[in-house]
Amino acid sequence: MTAAIIDGKAVAAALRERVAGAVQRLQSASGVTPGLAVVLVGDDPASHVYVRNKGIATKKAGMASFEHRLPATAREEDVVALVRRLNADDAVDGILVQMPLPAQIDAHKVINEIDPAKDVDGLTQANAGRLLLGATGLVPCTPHGSVLLIKTVEQKLSGLHAVVVGRSILVGKPLSLLLLAENCTVTMAHSRTKDLAAVCRSADILCAAVGKAELVQGDWVKEGAIVIDVGINRVGDRLIGDVDYAAAATRARAITPVPGGVGPMTIACLLKNTVLAAARRRGLADPEI
Ligand code: NDP
Repeated sequence: MTAAIIDGKAVAAALRERVAGAVQRLQSASGVTPGLAVVLVGDDPASHVYVRNKGIATKKAGMASFEHRLPATAREEDVVALVRRLNADDAVDGILVQMPLPAQIDAHKVINEIDPAKDVDGLTQANAGRLLLGATGLVPCTPHGSVLLIKTVEQKLSGLHAVVVGRSILVGKPLSLLLLAENCTVTMAHSRTKDLAAVCRSADILCAAVGKAELVQGDWVKEGAIVIDVGINRVGDRLIGDVDYAAAATRARAITPVPGGVGPMTIACLLKNTVLAAARRRGLADPEI
């Protein structure tokens, strides 16, 4: 079997178009222009690139983009004070604090200062709790994007066995909960899992979110499985995933490449969350996206 390549770039572009349409409809119906504020602390070069790309994508979707930069020496209370100002600013519907934060700042403390209604990264305790409870909230972007990609291959996930390797708060755990909500039977695997290869081989949907280049070998993939590779690993000047792509592609039914798979979905889902936040904060129905 040769796997179909799941084109994250194309799926993300289509999602961004739908978001732009929802922004236009929201503007004409209610005069609301959704706004996304991004907070960048310090001079991490990769973070600067991410923040710039988020700003460009936000404006392209017809939304307002606000960038706030603080020096690497900023104190925790400075970042908290900025988040509180953004919470109180009615032009701001979404707040994203770019990670990583400098060592002197407690990231959890800062995240939990974000008004859950504006928490477009879905990382506050309130939104994590809503996801666990199955209540409406804002869902973390990378896991949400991963599920949207799976659904381009298979609409009905009910009863399928999903294995998620990695249990981080950012990716693995929320992705597992989203797949559970789709009625998958979910196995969460991690660094202490015994015989990871055998666990992976039992997956109809195999998601890798580890951060170890090509950890998942080709023969860990069941024939006909859907493989979602969240990993981004810099090896020399190349970006490679957590899955041995070439070997896995000979067995999988469909697979995401790295780059060009899950990565582009993250920003698109961030834009989607910003529009949802703008509507919900005003008591409006969720726009069709
Ligand atoms: P974390 O480092 O927070 O979590 C890694 C997880 O992998 C942990 O749960 C850890 O287990 C598990 N793990 C580590 N080693 C092994 C192993 N040998 N076998 C099985 N499990 C293992 O990473 P993140 O979740 O934040 O990110 C994962 C990857 O996804 C990274 O490459 C990151 O760059 C990428 N990423 C990509 C995004 C995108 O937009 N495409 C967005 C966010 C992340 P344990 O809990 O037991 O320690």
